[in-house]
Amino acid sequence: MDVSHLLDELNEPQREAVTSSNSHVLVLAGAGSGKTRVLVHRLAWLIQVEHVSPLGVLAVTFTNKAAGEMRERTGKLLGFSTRPLWVGTFHGIAHRLLRMHCQEADLPETFQILDAEDQQRLLRRIIRDEGMNEADWPARQAQWFINARKDEGQRPQNIEHLDHPVTSTWVHIYKRYQDHCNRGGLVDFAELLLRAHELWLDHPDVLEHYRKRLQHLLIDEFQDTNAIQYAWLRLLAGDSGRMFVVGDDDQSIYGWRGAKVENIQYFVRDFPDVRTVRLEQNYRSTGNILDAANALIANNQSRMGKKLWTDGPSGKPIQVYAAFNEQDEARFVVERIQQWLDQGRRADGSAILYRTTAQSRLFEENLLQASIPYRVYGGQRFFERTEVKDALAYLRLLNNPNDDAALERVVNKPARAIGAKTLAIIRLQARESGLTLWQAAGECVSQEKFAKRAGTVVSAFIQLIDSMRERMQDWTLGKQMQGVIDDSALASHYEKEPRERMETRIENLGELVNAADAFILPVEDAEAGLTELQSFLSHAALEAGETQGESWEDCVQLMTLHSAKGLEFPLVFMAGMEDGLFPHRRSVDESGGRLEEERRLCYVGMTRAREQLYISYAETRRMYGSQNYCRPSRFIDEMPAELLEEVRPRIAVHRPYVPARPSTSPVGLSQDLAFSLGQAVLHSKFGEGTVMAFEGAGEHTRVHVNFHDEGAKWLVLAYANLQAC
Ligand code: ATP
Ligand code: MG
Repeated sequence: MDVSHLLDELNEPQREAVTSSNSHVLVLAGAGSGKTRVLVHRLAWLIQVEHVSPLGVLAVTFTNKAAGEMRERTGKLLGFSTRPLWVGTFHGIAHRLLRMHCQEADLPETFQILDAEDQQRLLRRIIRDEGMNEADWPARQAQWFINARKDEGQRPQNIEHLDHPVTSTWVHIYKRYQDHCNRGGLVDFAELLLRAHELWLDHPDVLEHYRKRLQHLLIDEFQDTNAIQYAWLRLLAGDSGRMFVVGDDDQSIYGWRGAKVENIQYFVRDFPDVRTVRLEQNYRSTGNILDAANALIANNQSRMGKKLWTDGPSGKPIQVYAAFNEQDEARFVVERIQQWLDQGRRADGSAILYRTTAQSRLFEENLLQASIPYRVYGGQRFFERTEVKDALAYLRLLNNPNDDAALERVVNKPARAIGAKTLAIIRLQARESGLTLWQAAGECVSQEKFAKRAGTVVSAFIQLIDSMRERMQDWTLGKQMQGVIDDSALASHYEKEPRERMETRIENLGELVNAADAFILPVEDAEAGLTELQSFLSHAALEAGETQGESWEDCVQLMTLHSAKGLEFPLVFMAGMEDGLFPHRRSVDESGGRLEEERRLCYVGMTRAREQLYISYAETRRMYGSQNYCRPSRFIDEMPAELLEEVRPRIAVHRPYVPARPSTSPVGLSQDLAFSLGQAVLHSKFGEGTVMAFEGAGEHTRVHVNFHDEGAKWLVLAYANLQAC
């Protein structure tokens, strides 16, 4: 089979990585150097050349959007369906494993994912139940404590320093919270990863099964993996699994959330026979953008150090706009986008990047006024909206009435006179008897623990849920969704709200029915034994937790710098480049690490741009309710002045330059060669290797072999004495 297309348009080190026969590979390279491209080609290479079964490969990336793109690109290279491939995020894959092994993971079949908001709500209740002062013990902090511990693989009993009063209080809350989750079959995001890790540890047979099956593990954005993810990968790889890891220490931007850039060094230390490949050519950005980004990142002390160059054109200088205030900034950006569109360019080729989500509003307003379509990524997304979550909570109760978070959410929504007092009785019962709220409510009714009226309303609620479940069990998902909205009287509950908000909420509920109607049970979920309802609920929870949205029609893209990771756009605006906003004031106040992480974030932002980069700052900005005089970001000073150009409002912008793509077309493959591309060969001196390319014809034919120990070499075929192996 001709597989030359797998090495087409790859440069030499990229080919080396794709065809490597080493046990493990680390591709360590700067932004836009083709890491993701290499990973996708490697995936296709394994299947087409090394004949690895598509079921034997696991590819992990950072967001659902990136996973979708990876699947699509691999499909194009392979020319057949990528359905059997395991491609996804760590959370998505852990979820799937837990569904398939819920018994071993000690979870009920009906377990549900608890998203961040519900997690906080549940914690608030537990803190209150414990009689603790919420101002001293905020739920947010508890959430942070618990998730950070889980990310380190720690259960309450493994946490040391119990004699420290603050830590021991949080540990106590962690324990209470976990008991609740276990009783109700609830799994938060960090728990997904921890359970999946414990699944390996506690069930060697399950681990062995996956070790045998998943022989190839490919990880993108490795610099942002955390401790538990790395530990999980190590266990899965064992002695025989092969890891292919790509990353860039200069783009590690999730340290604040537990990511460990050190994992790159650990990887080289923990795995034998790692081939490290460095890619130095950038194919994304113009020379000016790249030089400015390189100069900026050189200010960081803790770096592994890399070179990055391009042979593309230098392009225009980076345009810097000093706005009078934030309004002027938004107006300027939208005006430039309009000019871009007037030149016949696509809206989705432009992106506005900012440090904090609140900054999106003014851009949205200006885009709306200009009738330019846009989409905000990482803002409040459909499945995160109140009314959507309320309706889903009913559906969750039909699936599993022991879901405390769902019950808590809707027990008195719409108001049905189940007040704080009644709830307190239910909670007390739950606590004393170790029951879920649903079970406790039933017990309280039968033991007549309520005053008369309260007893009636609670049993009416129980009946409502039971009767919905019974009536709707054979209905289609869409019909169930509609039924839940009707029977729960949620729609009429919202009708009491101000008109505009009410309309949006009703529209969203309608859209939720549409979503349920259109939902098709994914094959992998069916295989894992999920019902349509369970699969839909999991889908909704995972979507809500995702930091990035799906790609949309032709819209201007608005997103935080964090969610822009891995993406690229011809035209990029980095807005709000002011000290205190970016770098964020929290990091400016602190020494060392935090500021360096902000600088890496700036590097990530700049290197998203392909043709033109705009940087803007406001001289005054309304923030936290008052007018602030701002200083331009120190990061602007760190960029070489000759690469920047200050924009005066009236200067016209020229049509952006489209760089020509350098071509690296491969050499044609001769038909009558004794060796084929991808073939394993043996050389008397260099040892084993893989054929990557041929050049020339007849006795002048040269062959390019990627040797396991010696690296890539060109040899004259007639004299090389290669043996097929
Ligand atoms: P990031 O660090 O931002 O994730 P990356 O290293 O993953 O970037 P890619 O997204 O894979 O880089 O590639 C950047 C751009 O360069 C893409 O448009 C890709 O198609 C292109 N590219 C990569 N390698 C080559 C090549 N050898 N020839 C031509 N274009 C290439
Ligand atoms: Mg990438």
